[in-house]
Amino acid sequence: MKRWTLTLFGCNRKGLTPSVKILGATIGQHADYRDGTVYVGSDRLGAILGISESKVFERRKALKGSGWMVDTGRTKGRAKVYKLTIPDCECGNC
Ligand SMILES: [Zn+2]
Repeated sequence: MKRWTLTLFGCNRKGLTPSVKILGATIGQHADYRDGTVYVGSDRLGAILGISESKVFERRKALKGSGWMVDTGRTKGRAKVYKLTIPDCECGNC
């Protein structure tokens, strides 16, 4: 998911802070490179990044809200399955 991550890093959209992008990159590392689906627990993400689960929720919400990942409606264990997507972004850099 290298292209997804690098595009995310370059996005200038408001609300996509460096912390949100780092969470995105960490999620991207867990994604299936063939179809962009990903399931990784917020407890796991919090442990990797040294942040609370509520920070993970907050930052993931920013990624979902701006169209960088969508909920597939499926679950794997207790984790939701998301699909990483590159939004039709108007920031001028995507
Ligand atoms: Zn953008």
